[in-house]
Amino acid sequence: MDCTLCRTPAQRFTQVDNREYFRCPCCQLTFEHPDKLPSPEQEKGQYDLHENQPDDPGYRRFLSQLADPLMALLPDDAQGLDFGCGPGPALATMLQEQGFDCETFDPLYAPDTSVLDRHYDFVTCTEVIEHLHQPAREWDWFAAHVKPGGWLGIMTRWLIDDTAFANWHYRRDPTHVCFWQPATFEWLARQQGWSLHLTGNPVVLMQKR
Ligand SMILES: [Zn+2]
Ligand SMILES: [Zn+2]
Repeated sequence: MDCTLCRTPAQRFTQVDNREYFRCPCCQLTFEHPDKLPSPEQEKGQYDLHENQPDDPGYRRFLSQLADPLMALLPDDAQGLDFGCGPGPALATMLQEQGFDCETFDPLYAPDTSVLDRHYDFVTCTEVIEHLHQPAREWDWFAAHVKPGGWLGIMTRWLIDDTAFANWHYRRDPTHVCFWQPATFEWLARQQGWSLHLTGNPVVLMQKR
């Protein structure tokens, strides 16, 4: 089974609840068998259950783990995109409130693809990359559309304990199909020549050189 991020042939990692997982020996991504991925209908059903509205204080606190350190790094006139914004779109609203220009894209909730033609000083991607069926595709887009010196801000719960994988709430979400370790971000940073800041689980900041 080829890794969905770096294409290296990957070994079977484990099977849990009739879901089969692979682990890449190169980038350390853990990913679900491509034949068992959820349909767009299953995904939308799951996403609609989430409480991700801009006026939800708990969700704003959650997003501020990324928004606060990112905004401290950005020039005042920075223009960005929240990639995979969801139904909210909460993070873009928070950044706009602080004066940043922030577009939104989401294949289900904000599907205007014209924003994907532009280049950005920052791109945010919160609770998104664990859902990607072919993460190589989105990484190619990040590499091409974040400007040199620009920032990519990610939130995904890091996989740090293989022994807890089977019972991990993050794994049990039917739409979570790939799991990222610090080593996976280190591989991406090396591969693409970005600098990496493992700010703290679940926040990663990467700067394109
Ligand atoms: Zn890989
Ligand atoms: Zn998720």
